Amino acid sequence: MLYIISAMNTKRSLRQLERQIGALQEKLCALGPMHPGSVSRQYQVCGNPACRCMHPQRPQRHGPYYKLAYVHRGKPTCRFVRADCVAELKQRLRVYKTFRALMDRWIELSIQRGVIEYFSPAARKTAVRKARSS
Ligand SMILES: [Zn+2]
Repeated sequence: MLYIISAMNTKRSLRQLERQIGALQEKLCALGPMHPGSVSRQYQVCGNPACRCMHPQRPQRHGPYYKLAYVHRGKPTCRFVRADCVAELKQRLRVYKTFRALMDRWIELSIQRGVIEYFSPAARKTAVRKARSS
């Protein structure tokens, strides 16, 4: 009796997990353009002693410049970004963060699913039944 109830709960949990994974997959498919990394704003000194950026009392450094930094397959990359592209690029960075969060949640749910299907007492009983019936 206890086994039947736990098997029912297991089936219900599996269905719930499958529904949640399906919803995540739909959200992932709906994501727009993305890009990894972060954008920073910088001001620079050119080194010319006659330039306003080298003024001893009131230095006015050049900029702002926007720099994108990211790591892909272990390789760090930095690129300057045109100011008129920064807003759109930041949107892509946000989409990438959402992508990673959704993927992380998918992995979490997949592990929970695996626990039910392969590593719970109910899963062992199912496996034994399958082995006996074949
Ligand atoms: Zn300068």
